[in-house]
Amino acid sequence: MTEHYRMLIDGQKPALDPAHALSVVNPLTGQTNAMVSDATAEQVHDAVTAAENAFTTVWQRTPGVERARLMNALADLIDGHADELAQLETDDNGKLLRETRTQAHFAARNYRFFAGMADKIFGHTIPLDSYDSFDYTVREPLGVAALITAWNSPLQLLANKLAPALAAGNTVVIKPSELAPRSTLRLGDLVREAGFPPGVVNIITGGREAGEALTSDPRLGRISFTGSVGTGQAIAAAAARTLVPVTLELGGKSANIVFDDADLDRAVIGAVAGIFAAGGQTCIAGSRLLVQAGVYDEMVSRVSARADDIVLGDPSLDTTQMGPVANAPQLERIEAMIAAGRDSGATITSGGERPTGSDLSPGLFMRPTVFAGVDPMARIAQEEIFGPVLSIIRFETEDDAVSIANNTDFALASGIWTNDLSRAHRIARRLVAGTVWVNTYRSSAAQAPFGGTKKSGYGRERGVEAIEEYLRTKNVMIDLSDSVRDPFSIQA
Ligand code: NAD
Repeated sequence: MTEHYRMLIDGQKPALDPAHALSVVNPLTGQTNAMVSDATAEQVHDAVTAAENAFTTVWQRTPGVERARLMNALADLIDGHADELAQLETDDNGKLLRETRTQAHFAARNYRFFAGMADKIFGHTIPLDSYDSFDYTVREPLGVAALITAWNSPLQLLANKLAPALAAGNTVVIKPSELAPRSTLRLGDLVREAGFPPGVVNIITGGREAGEALTSDPRLGRISFTGSVGTGQAIAAAAARTLVPVTLELGGKSANIVFDDADLDRAVIGAVAGIFAAGGQTCIAGSRLLVQAGVYDEMVSRVSARADDIVLGDPSLDTTQMGPVANAPQLERIEAMIAAGRDSGATITSGGERPTGSDLSPGLFMRPTVFAGVDPMARIAQEEIFGPVLSIIRFETEDDAVSIANNTDFALASGIWTNDLSRAHRIARRLVAGTVWVNTYRSSAAQAPFGGTKKSGYGRERGVEAIEEYLRTKNVMIDLSDSVRDPFSIQA
């Protein structure tokens, strides 16, 4: 019988109603992994009510040191269950098990990082113009935060939001993607085991309708969303009606720029890791490889050769380097974009089609694909594909590189490969992107802030900046004098 994974509302796990159920499908086998609830509007409402009650009755009064203790306990449980959580995630989204395992441990690291901030949320005392006045600020949590994540890295994306939200003293309603919800639902068990009070963390499942019910709730203090541009725009529009503040982590079309003086052995690895790790299904994918004329031919041939050698297969095996595409609509989109690339006149130097071979069937596989000679304005150089498709673009000068790199709707990440220190800093200054990597790509750290601008979204996750997304400032002004003032002369 297919297993049921249940939601978490007010510390309870409501039984799954077959009339409101969704199946979670394994992209390697095509088999159903589990059934989950398609939350009704009433259940979404209940989850927000539970979070609101937990905020006012318990969590708001829980000191930072205790919030930190619970978060550290959760981090220990995540580390202890990393293999199990990773396997659930790999079976849901087809990502390499060694990456989902690393991401589980990285999630734990993020809970610890923000636990360290939970008892260090300070206001200021502010000297005013009058000796008789005393003024101070208090940094307060926002209340209930709605945290909505995409299917590609559920636990890691959630940690980026949940860790600062809890550290700042907010309660939450989480909605993972309906395509890969099981690691998040299992995390709900660990939240309970860690000892968080009921209602502090609630998890609902479902698709667009459940998401809409959640994001239109006026009781929220913040919506933090990771996903596609279109959904981000819909959420921002819904939030415009309630005036709930929003954090948006959306798509990307990141430029990975290789200069003539780069260490090409490292640049080739960086280019391949940038696009083919996780099958290109990451928002930070270095999907545009900009290569300076002097090393262009060599880079095209070396990157294409590496792409040809990538081992496709079962993502749970250590020998596999790229798993299946996560779901059927995603595969269709990738195929359509490869067709658009062919039509644009770019040259395919690797891949371009689905692999043949019965051992990979019925998995949703796509061969690592490299296009060379890509026009910077072609669709494959402008639109996010979210798959293993690299567009290589040739450039002559630093100015060309910067202008091509910045000329998209997105501004999430970027990479620079050079051994010239001044050039690295010069280009880093001029790139419009939330992240600039130099002689590395795809590295992340709990301490380093992450996020985008333009259509890649707004707000920051990770780093000390992230906690600000979940706090607001209250100003308290006190008249210390014992005089009775003229009511018409109190300064506004
Ligand atoms: P998606 O927008 O389809 O779905 C994301 C989440 O939003 C899911 O939980 C989904 O159920 C929910 N949702 C859908 N419609 C909704 C609505 N109207 N209101 C509220 N919630 C709604 O995105 P996806 O296909 O799951 O993820 C892929 C996208 O995510 C890519 O564009 C990728 O670049 C982006 N992404 C961004 C980052 C980042 O940090 N910037 C990280 C990972 C993925």
